[in-house]
Amino acid sequence: MSDSNERNIHYCHGMWDPAEGPLKVMVIGAHPDDPDVHCGGTAAMLAEKGARVVFVAMTNGDKGHHAMSADDLARRRFGEAQAAAKAYGIERYVIFDNHDCELEATLENRRRLTRVIREFGPHVIFTHRCNDYHADHRATGQLVMDATYLLGVPLWCPEVPIPKEKPCVWYLRDAFSKPVEMSPDLVVGLSEKAVDRLLAGLACHVSQFLEWLPFDMGIRPEDVPSPDDAKGVHDFIFDHWIRPRACFDAKRFGLSWECAEVFELSEYGREPTAAERAFLAVPQTVLA
Ligand SMILES: [Zn+2]
Repeated sequence: MSDSNERNIHYCHGMWDPAEGPLKVMVIGAHPDDPDVHCGGTAAMLAEKGARVVFVAMTNGDKGHHAMSADDLARRRFGEAQAAAKAYGIERYVIFDNHDCELEATLENRRRLTRVIREFGPHVIFTHRCNDYHADHRATGQLVMDATYLLGVPLWCPEVPIPKEKPCVWYLRDAFSKPVEMSPDLVVGLSEKAVDRLLAGLACHVSQFLEWLPFDMGIRPEDVPSPDDAKGVHDFIFDHWIRPRACFDAKRFGLSWECAEVFELSEYGREPTAAERAFLAVPQTVLA
């Protein structure tokens, strides 16, 4: 304890110093596929450049199916997420045991998230805005905002040492325009290889992209490819989840590449440094 207390008297002001180690990136989403959909391509490129990347899902995703039991689904989605993490080349996919559709910005969740963030000590966090479509997404955004300031408060969760790093926070893409539309500050053009890895990762979430989401969207089962048909699966996922977002954004911001992931800087974190901006600028990027 004395060690922790000694370390905890220091506020976390530290920014990324490339001489001290790789950039640490944490993507915090509500469900075990949200970090993937909104940041999977960027994560694959950052990991390839040497960043340490961790995905966190604040719920276990146990409501996202029409034909499975909640327990079986939670187990299945855990396995799918671990397989996806391998496809992106990231370090870890953490999944909280909160039930899907029941996430609340409680003190206990604030403490649990604080511990997970402090233990990894990310320089960069990506998460949902607080006016996204799903209650779990909004609660996730709220929890990250609530935890971010408290990361450097010594008497908050004193059992976990305060890391030197203070994170900058970026919002993941959403399509909500009220009360205010998302305004991207970072547009990451995805290389062909990153798109391939993104598709390979999303394809691991069979329960979602080939079962639940097509059901929820009213797509006829005969129009959904078999999981064994790799090309059919990639085309299907590209058409329904990449084209309307990543391709739309690449065109909107005038990139010559086909796909882009966009992020908005949050006022809850610190400003990114020049070194961090340069590292995030992979390989065709617009920084507003
Ligand atoms: Zn979600």
